[in-house]
Amino acid sequence: MSLPNPPAALARPGHAVTGAGMDGPGNQRRVPLTHPVPNTAGAAADDMPLAARSQRAVWHPCTRLRPDAAANEPPLAIARGEGPWLIDAEGRRYFDAISSWWVNLFGHANPAINAALVAQLNTLEHVMLAGCTHAPAVELAERLEALTGGVLGNAFYASDGASAVEIALKMSFHYWRNTGLSAKREFVCLRHGYHGETVGALAVTDVEIFRDAYDPLTRRAHVVMSPDARQAGRGESAADVAKRALAELEALLRERAGQIAALIVEPLVQGAAGMAMYDPSYLEGARALCDRYRVHLIADEIAVGCGRTGTFFAWEQARGGEPVPAHAWPDFLCLSKGITGGYLPLSLVLSRPEIQRAFVADDIARSFLHSHSYTGNPLACRAALATLDLFAADDVLARNRERAQWLADAMAGIAADPRVSHVRQRGMIWAADIDPEATGPDFASRFHLAARERGVLARPIGNTLYVMPPYVFDAALANWLGEQLLGTLQAILPPTEEARHAA
Ligand SMILES: *Cc1c(COP(=O)(O)O)cnc(C)c1O
Repeated sequence: MSLPNPPAALARPGHAVTGAGMDGPGNQRRVPLTHPVPNTAGAAADDMPLAARSQRAVWHPCTRLRPDAAANEPPLAIARGEGPWLIDAEGRRYFDAISSWWVNLFGHANPAINAALVAQLNTLEHVMLAGCTHAPAVELAERLEALTGGVLGNAFYASDGASAVEIALKMSFHYWRNTGLSAKREFVCLRHGYHGETVGALAVTDVEIFRDAYDPLTRRAHVVMSPDARQAGRGESAADVAKRALAELEALLRERAGQIAALIVEPLVQGAAGMAMYDPSYLEGARALCDRYRVHLIADEIAVGCGRTGTFFAWEQARGGEPVPAHAWPDFLCLSKGITGGYLPLSLVLSRPEIQRAFVADDIARSFLHSHSYTGNPLACRAALATLDLFAADDVLARNRERAQWLADAMAGIAADPRVSHVRQRGMIWAADIDPEATGPDFASRFHLAARERGVLARPIGNTLYVMPPYVFDAALANWLGEQLLGTLQAILPPTEEARHAA
């Protein structure tokens, strides 16, 4: 690990490796429960608390199962949602500071998305997309293409982020094969990059805790230096770090471009790496290198898309603030998570028209024969259209610039703590690293539980504290959030020297 954030490798996008000393609710031992569990001795399953039934009946994701069952922290049972709030059975409210694994954009039970879904539900719930089509899938594809200025289109639908990544990888490889370059079958990813956990996506994921057990199953990608700005040496800027990372990429491409199909990156922010942020010049530089060496560029905007970084697509910032010319866009762009407003599983891959042209042939072997049963589900597409409507109607990107400032102001107290470093923000993502010497072990889990006591759902990644809230808060709520997070930090860290002297 070369990053100044050792436990980062343990983090999944918003996911906790619960139980692995990580950021999740399952990994806190013997900490008082947020809500009392009624005495259920001898009760029928129906009378058991939901959390206990869940532990029995549901195999929870990213969760360690301890041999001592009592050591497995019950999941937080949520009864309903309302705007940025999650509400448990006892009516306790939790501010969803991480947008429920980075998916929610406009709050829970959003009236506009609800209404659109009810209407769709009463019209068409699902139809297969092979040989059939429907208005929501078509309209969504058209609107997303328009959002790229017409550069990327041919929306290929799937359900989860990892499937979109698999599709982009397969399409890239197949494109080269169809164009007579079948030796190009290797991929390049960034150090600590995360692209999902199916076997193909794991091959381009450099997060040991998710990858190592399955390494024998994967065809490991080349891993090159991340432009993570935290690696800046004395006197070095974020742009200098990006330059170093580009030099390493170029060295690899110079050597092996004949075997390499594509480079995959998370533009601007590597989420699972611990909200590692980097200089946009890396994107422009990587694009130029991919052109020079004839390698595809895949932008995984599953986490950073849909306005998270301040623009609808993170890639729009590849030239600082200047408009990105058509040739400087990626070849493939993957979207998921926020695209349905956090309502339903939907992912998709946009690509350049010339990609699809390589699949136009009478020979079926040249076709892209990839499918999922629920590809382009009408309900999911309708939720996505309602989400795009909200962006347009409420001028969300402009208003988020204001919200981003409220967030920065609200976190100023944390940023000022001497144990906090690398305070960073890109749009609606704010993050900072807490000195591991000060936190001791299991910071993420302890913070998570302590924040819950204060009505905030937060899940640090390793020693990185971050917030990525839905776009539905005002300055007062941001301040409240900042106070709760600061209070949580002070509650779980020993007092600083200064505080001790003051006391
Ligand atoms: C979450 C995520 C994925 C995987 O998406 P799933 O829906 O969890 O499969 C892929 N890439 C990035 C950057 C992500 O944040």
